[in-house]
Amino acid sequence: MFVGHYGVSFAARSWDKAIPLWVLFIAVQLLDFAWAPLVLLGIEKVRIVPGITATNPLDLYYMPYTHSLVAALLWSAGAFAAYRLAVRNGGNRAALVVAVAVFSHWVLDFVVHRPDLPIYDDTAKVGLGLWNFPATAFGLETALLFAGLWLYFQTHPVRRIATAVLCVAMLAIQASVFFGPPPPSDKTAALMAIVSYVAFAGVIRLLEGRRQSVRAA
Ligand SMILES: [Zn+2]
Repeated sequence: MFVGHYGVSFAARSWDKAIPLWVLFIAVQLLDFAWAPLVLLGIEKVRIVPGITATNPLDLYYMPYTHSLVAALLWSAGAFAAYRLAVRNGGNRAALVVAVAVFSHWVLDFVVHRPDLPIYDDTAKVGLGLWNFPATAFGLETALLFAGLWLYFQTHPVRRIATAVLCVAMLAIQASVFFGPPPPSDKTAALMAIVSYVAFAGVIRLLEGRRQSVRAA
């Protein structure tokens, strides 16, 4: 999954107003934030196999450290601890929301991936394979993103247009990934993922920063 993960960020932000949205943007993609450098280092492995699913040409054949169920639980626990350490007075509840946001990545990946997500290490791989149904998979990503955005707008009625434009831009990138040509190499795919995730988090941080200064003014 790609932009659908951000629906969870928006929903979590509307639920717990203490957590900056950019932190949640990183949380929901934390497993991929770890995956991309590990692919670039050759520790986790992916190859481009056009047609392996109807929408995604990535054969993610080795990713025990970031996308096994056990690893996802450990990353979520690590995020809980990191948030508690980094944010004074952050509270257990906010840290738990961040941890659940991290774990939501695995759950949503489970829906769309072919059976390439190991339960532990590199074995017992699972995945419901929604990527083989382009319209349904794209519809699900869109629905998740905009349902989360709608929830966010209920509690944050500022800079709606700019935030909605960002979401439409994210969806356009998703469409190009789904329906455009495959990436030229495994390393390019990892690099493109991390560049877009950093850009999305940076832009939402700018938008929220402006929102806060608007409120202060
Ligand atoms: Zn992932």
